Amino acid sequence: MSEMNLVLLGPPGSGKGTQGERLQEDLRFPYYATGDILRAAVREQTALGREAKEYMDRGDLVPDEVIVGAIGERIDSPEAADGFILDGFPRTVPQAEALDAKLEQLGRVLNGVLLIDADDEEVARRLGGRRTCVENGHVFHVDFNPPKRDGVCDIDGSELVVRDDDKPDVIAHRLEQYHAKTEPLIEFYDHRSLLRRVDGGGSPEEVAAAIGRTLATLKLEAGGTV
Ligand SMILES: [Zn+2]
Repeated sequence: MSEMNLVLLGPPGSGKGTQGERLQEDLRFPYYATGDILRAAVREQTALGREAKEYMDRGDLVPDEVIVGAIGERIDSPEAADGFILDGFPRTVPQAEALDAKLEQLGRVLNGVLLIDADDEEVARRLGGRRTCVENGHVFHVDFNPPKRDGVCDIDGSELVVRDDDKPDVIAHRLEQYHAKTEPLIEFYDHRSLLRRVDGGGSPEEVAAAIGRTLATLKLEAGGTV
């Protein structure tokens, strides 16, 4: 059976997390949001988790090879034998190269990189319209999922606010960071013919359907090379 080893890319607000979780359910592959992996490795005190913690405790960035090691531990586990979905890593070209080297060591390859594309205007509309409840973090959206009463959480009646992350200048900064870091990565995977663009502009259902079609094509291609 051919594997389906995937990386998800996309700007903040592209619905990448939602789609990743859906994919996990549909494909029954583990979905690794990589920030979580590192935290889990630290919590479970694996060798790499302990190493990562040393950097974190000193206030240093955890080096790429340590992160790749932690991800390698997961990828090499039985749950990921038929495939996996990575989100949040790689973020840079050197990280992508480190991931390649690790996969090669494990005798595996990436089958595809899904870019859930949304332009800056769309991202600003999506993130800027979010309202989060102060008590429990329930999320609404002024256009897509409005609360029954303006500024009030449907679920617990607490106040809805714009999180700092969703304020216009912060959104602009996040987008800037995203473009600066991710564009070279998009090019990197495009050159390797791994990149598949999915229009992230539709509803979650429409985006999921587009991803499904893309994966079906990838599977055919993977089957064709065996
Ligand atoms: Zn609430």
